[in-house]
Amino acid sequence: MTFHRRLPAIILAAVIFLAALVLIVGRSLSRDVRTEPLEQDRSALTTFTTQMLGEVKDLESLYQSHLLDVKEKLKTSTSRIETSSICRNVVGLEQVSIFKSGSPPIHIDLRESSRAETLPPPRLPGDDSTDGVIVDLEPFHRDPYGTDFFWIDQAGYPPHFVTRASYQVTLVFAINPHLVATEINSWLQTWLREKYRPVEVAHLTASVKGPYDELLIRSGKEPEEPTPTLLLPISSRFGDWKVNFWEQTVSTVDYNTPILIGSIALSLLLILIGMIGFIQQRRALLLAEQRVSFANRVSHELRTPLTNILLNIDLISDNLPDDAGSARKRLDLVREESSRLSRLLENVLSFSRKERGGPKLRIVPCEVNASVDEILEQFAPSLKRRNLKVQRRGVREPIFVMADQDALCQILGNLISNVEKYASHGKSFEIEINECKEINEVQIAVSDQGPGISKGNAVKIFRPFVRLHDKTTEGVSGTGLGLAIASELAFSMEGTLTLVPTRIGARFELTLPKANATNVIPIAS
Ligand code: ADP
Repeated sequence: MTFHRRLPAIILAAVIFLAALVLIVGRSLSRDVRTEPLEQDRSALTTFTTQMLGEVKDLESLYQSHLLDVKEKLKTSTSRIETSSICRNVVGLEQVSIFKSGSPPIHIDLRESSRAETLPPPRLPGDDSTDGVIVDLEPFHRDPYGTDFFWIDQAGYPPHFVTRASYQVTLVFAINPHLVATEINSWLQTWLREKYRPVEVAHLTASVKGPYDELLIRSGKEPEEPTPTLLLPISSRFGDWKVNFWEQTVSTVDYNTPILIGSIALSLLLILIGMIGFIQQRRALLLAEQRVSFANRVSHELRTPLTNILLNIDLISDNLPDDAGSARKRLDLVREESSRLSRLLENVLSFSRKERGGPKLRIVPCEVNASVDEILEQFAPSLKRRNLKVQRRGVREPIFVMADQDALCQILGNLISNVEKYASHGKSFEIEINECKEINEVQIAVSDQGPGISKGNAVKIFRPFVRLHDKTTEGVSGTGLGLAIASELAFSMEGTLTLVPTRIGARFELTLPKANATNVIPIAS
């Protein structure tokens, strides 16, 4: 199927696509999505957070009391080994330092030796070391019977628990907060299972995370956003636990009715126009095809009687006595007009063949001079009547081209017919045959001495149905198909037909591939 036959369907598809686009754009322009927070009772979450805050504080105090227990046990400890074994019972206790007035401090590292890089020991104010948390025992000295422990939270160091074992002995415990937090997490597991229940029952989207972002428990839907709407921190010395809450939202979609209706109407209108256009184009195409096929059929019907007429004219002409002057003249005229009709039919047939996918040619070696002779013989009576002489130039011996014999004669016939129609005042015209050896082509040029064709029309004249409206065509019959068909045939035979600029008249050059010696079959065979 040729492109122009598919064109209506392509245009219709494009219009439907455009209509769909209009509908999509219209819909998105008219769409208004509103997101609103969902009313939810958060009291369960608030209660839970308060409870958890209390629980973490309780656990912290419990840990502190463990440390004080250790202190009590250490009071009676006599050796370093005993001290270590007492301290190792408490999770997260990594180093114990014993400051005894009058003696240098003793630091005992309680960690597994394999994973230890030495811990910086705590130091007293005035100590020259550059590392380690500073333990200021001043409060103890100021108030010997007051509080007997305090915490040091110095930036860059783990928390240190300072406690007084006796009036002269102070113990400093270095604590690993990570280990304590992990322990608290495991204590919290059972507690959470029970206390978090109301939050789950209230279908709140929430979660509880430990100080190191470890998820302890969660409830509700999978949150869309990673960042919670509300973050409630539960701070402790060993890290910050977090209660995260995600507010649920509801989306309502509204459509702007005028925009939506407008876009639907526009796309329907587009589809309607597309459909009407499609139907009309299809109808026009069908009509054009019917016309071409009608012209084709009529031409076919006329072809056979016309060939018979021409044949019989030739027979009558051959049998006429030599003195039948005026009868011969009339017969020549009938022959001339019949030939013209025959050429016209051939052009119409070639055109309709082109419309249906191109001519079917039989490319064989053809002798150029013989073809020119044949055509000139057909034109001889009319050329004689118009007193138009032919000058033959160039190669006169047999020269072969690869062409379809009928197509070659049709091209030459159209060119000579044009000379006869538009340049008969020139007295003579020229047919020149040349061989272009370098490109292995044969050139057949037909030049006349008529009015010529302007440069601006040089391309136009090869288009179907184009006739130049000037003095040349006035009163001259024609369809505007001759040159279009001739150039199409030349192209189909891998040749070209061009109008070459000259000083006088018009010069058409037809080039065709030269037949190689191997292609040419001797006539005798
Ligand atoms: P037709 O001869 O049927 O009009 P053609 O396709 O053969 O169609 O020619 C197209 C137009 O080119 C002609 O109408 C004519 O104006 C112009 N033309 C063709 N050949 C010549 C020529 N040898 N001299 C001047 N004009 C010409």
